[in-house]
Amino acid sequence: RIGTAALAVQVVGSNWPKPHYTLLVTGLCRFQVLQLLKEKPYPIAEVQQLDRLEQFTNGHKSEEELGELSEQFYKYAVQLVEMLDMSVPAVAKLRRLLDNLPREALPDILTSIIRTSNQEKLQILDAVRLEERFKMTIPLLVRQIEGLKLLQKTRKSKQDDDKRVVAIRPNRRINHGSITEDEEEEEDHDDVVMLEKKIRTSSMSEQALKVCLKEIKRLKKMPQSMPEYALTRNYLELMVELPWNKSTKDRLEIRAARIVLDNDHYAMEKLKKRVLEYLAVRQLKNNLKGPILCFVGPPGVGKTSVGRSIAKTLGREFHRIALGGVCDQSDIRGHRRTYVGSMPGRIINGLKTVGVNNPVFLLDEVDKLAKSLQGDPAAALLEVLDPEQNHSFTDHYLNVAFDLSQVLFIATANTTATIPPALLDRMEVIQVPGYTQEEKIEIAHRHLIPKQLELHGLTPQQIQIPQVTTLGIITRYTREAGVRALDRKLGAICRAVAVKVAEGQHKEAKPDRAEVGEGEDCKEHVTEDAKPESISDTADLALPPEMPILIDFHALKDILGPPMYDMEVSERLNQPGVAIGLAWTPLGGEIMFVEASRMDGEGQLTLTGQLGDVMKESAHLAISWLRSNAKRYQLTNASGSFDLLDNTDIHLHFPAGAVTKDGPSAGVTIVTCLASLFSGRLVCSDVAMTGEITLRGLVLPVGGIKDKVLAAHRAGLKRVIIPQRNEKDLEEIAAHVRQELTFVLAACLDEVLNAAFDGGFAVKASLEHLNSKL
Ligand code: ADP
Repeated sequence: RIGTAALAVQVVGSNWPKPHYTLLVTGLCRFQVLQLLKEKPYPIAEVQQLDRLEQFTNGHKSEEELGELSEQFYKYAVQLVEMLDMSVPAVAKLRRLLDNLPREALPDILTSIIRTSNQEKLQILDAVRLEERFKMTIPLLVRQIEGLKLLQKTRKSKQDDDKRVVAIRPNRRINHGSITEDEEEEEDHDDVVMLEKKIRTSSMSEQALKVCLKEIKRLKKMPQSMPEYALTRNYLELMVELPWNKSTKDRLEIRAARIVLDNDHYAMEKLKKRVLEYLAVRQLKNNLKGPILCFVGPPGVGKTSVGRSIAKTLGREFHRIALGGVCDQSDIRGHRRTYVGSMPGRIINGLKTVGVNNPVFLLDEVDKLAKSLQGDPAAALLEVLDPEQNHSFTDHYLNVAFDLSQVLFIATANTTATIPPALLDRMEVIQVPGYTQEEKIEIAHRHLIPKQLELHGLTPQQIQIPQVTTLGIITRYTREAGVRALDRKLGAICRAVAVKVAEGQHKEAKPDRAEVGEGEDCKEHVTEDAKPESISDTADLALPPEMPILIDFHALKDILGPPMYDMEVSERLNQPGVAIGLAWTPLGGEIMFVEASRMDGEGQLTLTGQLGDVMKESAHLAISWLRSNAKRYQLTNASGSFDLLDNTDIHLHFPAGAVTKDGPSAGVTIVTCLASLFSGRLVCSDVAMTGEITLRGLVLPVGGIKDKVLAAHRAGLKRVIIPQRNEKDLEEIAAHVRQELTFVLAACLDEVLNAAFDGGFAVKASLEHLNSKL
């Protein structure tokens, strides 16, 4: 219960990579704890000052005995100090202090300087009586002197050096030569020595070892209070921790890998096949040189989770490095150590975290790397990913090469468009398209629901989510290519049910609830006259919870609120000048309503909806084609003239104006929309289209067909017009989706228009109709 009161003079250190602080204090006096007042957040106690008081300095009972003791002590102290190198200023100062300071202060000072264990120091601290303190310190002094003598004998040649070190850091180096068992134990407490030991026993490369030994030599001579001390120490600790030679053993068995992949993921056949091929080649070739796999697809389609499964099949550690928004190359390659707050890059950091040198690194979102004044992170990644170079990857912080050739890199991206070309060149892109509704239902029931139940501590005996409900969530509460929002909604349902289960307040289910059959169309269940019953009804609290709680549409509405998406297609297509296009975005396919209107004017075309240049060109192309074919199709402006822009302005709008859209694939949609506007006829409400157009009226192929078709299917459309040359892409689409849709393969715009309008768009058919309008 005895301590030292002190005044903090200086605090130095940093929080990274580990908090390491050096506190410089001036000791004031001993005190004794009388009563502990508070322990948290830090102890507060009532204390009593013990020394530096009159009675201790003057009023000694046995002056003589003490005088003798202090004289003896003084002699030993002088002997000790004189054994050190007097040319070092600190030693000379210490010598002067011995004469100048009151004798009573000497035991405390010398104990702090000589080599003693913590326990011995504490004993001296506890010795409140001066006499006792002198008595306890003298043996320590003698021990130290003997040790020094031995040291001088054994290391004569290096004497001078040692003395200097002793003078600067006496408590660390004095007595180094005398190795008794006791001291060896003490040495373990000395972290720098420990660190040195660790460095020597670690399996780092020769080059790294050389650098580390040099640094530790510097560290030993550095006073702890120097800011650089903490930096150097952190550096050395990182070097020791890095897995220079530590790796996990690969246990690759293709058959087992197939089972793991199949168990973890439903569908994604193409991706799984390619991953297995990749792993099989690795198994046969036994080295990792080869293209880096890059999974490209909308969010939430399982790219990251496949990466994790690959690590699992190989028995390797997995580490994800999020690259979204990284715009500084130091993020990848680290800061030089001269910087304040310098640190290694994410690659080296990742290796430190996993602790082995052959993990699976998932470079997430490589398409979202940005450039800035701080350099191009993509260029730094090139070195990391290139198998020819990465065996000697040099992080700026480490400043020595680290072998990355055993690391298995996998990248993910939403689109290849924004991946820097040089990086893309090193990767093999595997497209991961969005899921169909049926696939989503299967994924939900096989993977997501069991996972959510476990997360919320529920069992299948407590909650039952029929497939028709899942379909309802998919169509009415989410609109996405992946399953992430679906997963969140299922989480919300589980939370709500968990509350009910915990409260035991579930209302007994009414018999008609059980009628919610699987496989029936969800729309039938949300009829207005359905009885409003829900799991949030608390009217009948007395009844015990009815297990399992069935999630039907009313429950859905209670938990998730009113449906967010409605089938709006037919409502929006009830007037001329609207057509449905199919767009591809990094988030998956989408349907897009293109609207057109005309008004009196001077032949101007206005385009709104944040369009890119290519899209604007498509609009001009479409108008030019229509103008040149106006007579053939009997298209006229408001005053009956075949010159469509005569006294007429046209406004084309692509809704969702906040999202930038670009690409040529809206060409056919614009033509159809304008043809509808000028003919006054309605476009069929169940048809969507995509395709690039030429001035001559040809329809050229476009990309992203699978995602676009899935979007049309999600939106409940029945017919899809695609360019004829995209026919091959249809093979990728699941058979049941293909069955539910009719595909029109168009080679020219005539065919598009014929398919888009009920009864076709032939010249004769429209002539009558138009005349009646005019
Ligand atoms: P991404 O990386 O493509 O954005 P994630 O890998 O994070 O997506 O996937 C989101 C969630 O969806 C994960 O919990 C994952 O397990 C689940 N998931 C996605 N696709 C599948 C699938 N085919 N089978 C099972 N679960 C899937």
